[in-house]
Amino acid sequence: MDRTDCERLDAECKLAGCRARFSLPEGVLYFDGNSLGALPGTTASAIRRTIEDEWGAGLIRSWLDADWFFLARRAGDAIAPLIGASEGEVAVSDSTSVNLFKLAASLLRRGGAGRKVVTEAGNFPTDVYILEGLVDLLDRGHALVRADPARIADEVDEDTALVVLSHVDYRTGALHDMEAIAAHCNALGVPAVWDLCHSAGAVPVELNRWNVDYAVGCTYKFLNAGPGAPAFTYVSRAAIGDYRPAVTGWFSHAEQFRFEDGYRAADSINKCLVGSPPVLSLRAVIDGVATFDGVGMEELAAKSRRLSGLFIELADERLAEHGFALASPRDPARRGSQVSFRHPDAYAVARALIARGLIPDFREPDIVRFGIAPLYVRHVDIWDAVDAIEAVMSDGAWRDFRTDVREAVT
Ligand SMILES: *Cc1c(COP(=O)(O)O)cnc(C)c1O
Repeated sequence: MDRTDCERLDAECKLAGCRARFSLPEGVLYFDGNSLGALPGTTASAIRRTIEDEWGAGLIRSWLDADWFFLARRAGDAIAPLIGASEGEVAVSDSTSVNLFKLAASLLRRGGAGRKVVTEAGNFPTDVYILEGLVDLLDRGHALVRADPARIADEVDEDTALVVLSHVDYRTGALHDMEAIAAHCNALGVPAVWDLCHSAGAVPVELNRWNVDYAVGCTYKFLNAGPGAPAFTYVSRAAIGDYRPAVTGWFSHAEQFRFEDGYRAADSINKCLVGSPPVLSLRAVIDGVATFDGVGMEELAAKSRRLSGLFIELADERLAEHGFALASPRDPARRGSQVSFRHPDAYAVARALIARGLIPDFREPDIVRFGIAPLYVRHVDIWDAVDAIEAVMSDGAWRDFRTDVREAVT
């Protein structure tokens, strides 16, 4: 395998053309699309149109004339096929953290007190913080359990009030068997909320087929919706009837513009909305999701697995001697769309790579993480990335960076 082989693989790749859907800077090897997706070529003009034509000229008429009022649902319907959901099951609003709060708060009001809330050790911190806060707020004597991610089913029993898991581990990229865990939870009647932040647009997810009732996820990672773009909430058609919103804002009301004195919940996924939508960001969600037009998730995931497999193969040959230990599963079926390595000087190494134009990120305590957004990452990028890592390690450039002092964002 050499760089020419990588060029050939790119030339043969059916998805190679998708890269042109993005506006990517020259000379940058971008491996952080799992933290902030790249800018789609159409987004800037879509937002400019929304500002100048819809806001500037249309003014308040645009709530109807430009569909602002329905954008949260339209964005949700655009995301739905990427996660195996159906029309009307996904809404876009707020952040993943807030959406998790809303779902978990609603579900934890059901059933008896003094039960277990099961999450996994090493779950993304905001998920755990939200659950800690909720257990405290609800004051029902529930106990938060951080289960071994490999033994979730052993921990979930009749005494469990709620399960909250991330489909893909943000550090290592390890993938849960969502279908099997969902079946276990369903058999016991235990509600489970799935965090799809590192799944949506990256790995196949079949929420309907796997009988999953609740999920949240963000749009600014693999879905390319831009910094701070609102997140999605999924509640299955089967579960929405019994779903009682815990945060009862006017956008979740059955007839919002009747301005009634009392609250009545909508009978749709609008139950998951709260207040006025971020219209500019919702435009960017729609354009971000449109970068997946005509692309099958299985095909995309197959490319992702080829790229991450190539990365691992080259790292085995050329990076192991520089102290990089693979942190991601070797089995492609158990791996999300990233490759992570442990390294004793991971933070300094990540800084040095960024200074050289190769952008991964660092995750505590010792992980250098390479996100692989298969819509725009090429085989040659993998080759060039391994070249760059080898160079930074061989010439000692990473020693110019401190490993003990962190920037505010890593
Ligand atoms: C990125 C990420 C989040 C982010 O939550 P926000 O509220 O959008 O900041 C949540 N969960 C996981 C697993 C993530 O990877």
